[in-house]
Amino acid sequence: MGSVDNIDEMKSYLTPRQENEATASYQNTTAIACPVCEESFDSLVVCKRNETSLSLDTVMNLCTVTNDDGRLFLFTHE
Ligand SMILES: [Zn+2]
Repeated sequence: MGSVDNIDEMKSYLTPRQENEATASYQNTTAIACPVCEESFDSLVVCKRNETSLSLDTVMNLCTVTNDDGRLFLFTHE
């Protein structure tokens, strides 16, 4: 588990891609390092609700962190 203190700040450096009631995704166009594994990630997906079900069929590798308010953050790697 990595530190999630700066994820909301990190999002300001990412390119918004999709957002709906349950999730928001952001493209990492500036090679920001994943807070979990410290490799640059492909995209960040923020799950706003615990019951969110995601289609992750195409994701080869991902790191996950949660924060105090129950949101789940997925860092995908290609
Ligand atoms: Zn990672």
